[in-house]
Parts: sequence; C-alpha cells; structure tokens
Amino acid sequence: MRKSQQEQMDCNTLLITSLNSGSNGNCYYVGNDEEAILIDAGISCKETEIRMKRLGLSMHKVKALFISHEHSDHIRGVCVMARKYNIPVYVTPGTLLNCKFNKIKTEQIHHLRSFETITVGSLNITGLPKVHDAAEPHSFIIACGDTKVGVFTDLGVVCEELIRHFKQCDAAFLEANYDEDMLHNGRYPYFLKKRISGGQGHLSNKQALDLFLEHKPAHMTHLLLSHLSKDNNSPELVQTLFETHAGDIKIIVASRYIETPVFSIGATAISNVIAETSQLDLLDQLISYPSAG
Ligand SMILES: [Zn+2]
Ligand SMILES: [Zn+2]
Repeated sequence: MRKSQQEQMDCNTLLITSLNSGSNGNCYYVGNDEEAILIDAGISCKETEIRMKRLGLSMHKVKALFISHEHSDHIRGVCVMARKYNIPVYVTPGTLLNCKFNKIKTEQIHHLRSFETITVGSLNITGLPKVHDAAEPHSFIIACGDTKVGVFTDLGVVCEELIRHFKQCDAAFLEANYDEDMLHNGRYPYFLKKRISGGQGHLSNKQALDLFLEHKPAHMTHLLLSHLSKDNNSPELVQTLFETHAGDIKIIVASRYIETPVFSIGATAISNVIAETSQLDLLDQLISYPSAG
C-alpha cells in the first residue's frame, strides 16, 4: 500500500528550478527523482554544472535538452553540454537551420514537431508553437502523471496556445520582460523598443499579469516570472505586482544572475496522504502490538 503511494508520488512530483533567466542566458530544469530535462542551455556548461551542484542536482540525471529557439541566450551551452554528457537534443527543423550545432553528432539531434509529445522516462514533453522573432520558436509543457509545468518565455503576444496550456499548469515559468513605462521612457532606440513590444518580441509585465489574472487555474501553486529585462524592469516591481494578486500561489522572480531554489510541484496533496497514512499505520501498530511502545 505504502509503496504504491510512493510510486504515485514519484509519478506526480516535478522538481523545477531556473538556473538562469534573461537576455544573458536561459536554462530551466524540470525533473523528478529518476530523470530530468533542460529547456534551453543558454549559459555555459560549466556554469550550469556549478549551479546544479549548489542545488544538489546532477547533470547525470539530465536525459535530454529541448531548445525553444535559436537566439544565443537559449543555446550558448548546448554543444559543449550535449557532447560532454552525450545527451539528445530536441529542436524544430526551422530552429536547427539557424543554429551551428555541427559539433554535435547527427544521431544526437532529434526533430521536434509542434504538439508532438516526447517521452523521457516518466516525463512527457510537448512543444507548442509561439510568436517570437525567430524561425520556429516553441514553448513547452512538461507533464509527469497529473502534474504539469509550462515554460513560456520569449513571447510576442498572448496567443491561444499559451492561454490553453497556461490554464492546465500546476506551475509555470512565465515571461514578464518589461514595464511599459520604463521601456517607453528608457534609453533604448525606437527600433529596439518596437522590436521588444511590437508583437514579435517579449511579454510586458501587464500582458503577463492579465494572462495570470484571467486564466490561472485553481490548482496552480507556483508562478516563476522569467526573462526580466535588465534595463526596463525591476525584480521588486514584478514581485510586488504579482504578489498583490496571487493569493496562495507562490510568486518567484527568476534571476538573471543566479539559480532559484528547487521547487517541488504537485507533491503536497500526495505527501499529506502518505503522512496521514504513516500516522494511521503507526497507531495501528501500537494498537496491535502494545508492548512494542
Ligand atoms: Zn531570450
Ligand atoms: Zn528570443
């Protein structure tokens, strides 16, 4: 009885962390006790290893890399990491054409197609098309049993796919790239302001907040605001903005400089069941074998 509940917990619990988030590099870890994947490898392999070690995570559990798009802040560490650990790399054909992955063995590279689910152990990863100024950009949903985590960054607009899948997530990495006033009044040239906010670039705090307020599901427990601009946003501003409306949902701002802690998603309900069962079992044993106590 207890074993099957333990198995159920393994199958429903996802461990997640942002190893870095922002225009200087993106790398998101999603896994369980057995295996893990990385969404993007935008910091160096060495730095990824250092940060994972600090969190007690092992690169040897990472069984696949999934690439969202070809911008350098998402692929900088891919070649070294894929070669060093002999990990398969999942990438859309359009993204692959725009990446220089020629140092990776051909058999390590796998084509990713929209809405196709890739199974890595007990993790199911689905790529979703998104709007961004890249060849064939994708968001990702990672599921383990009933638990779902979304990775939604580098989005020009809140599209139907984003809404449909955000609604299903227990936890999500969601882009909150810029504060509209800070971008508008800031020092960026006009063309860059337009590139960021013109529907092919990044989500503003307001766009992300509107999505959150209108579509957050009742079972969501964690929201990790991601890919914050260094010049046109502030972590404190984002934290306050979302926390005001978050209720019981934990709000975390993913840093441009350091990893977040590891968060356990989808575990609470089952853990409580196991804790309760353990107490009942203990009581049962005391009643059955009073001399043992
Ligand atoms: Zn990016
Ligand atoms: Zn990008």
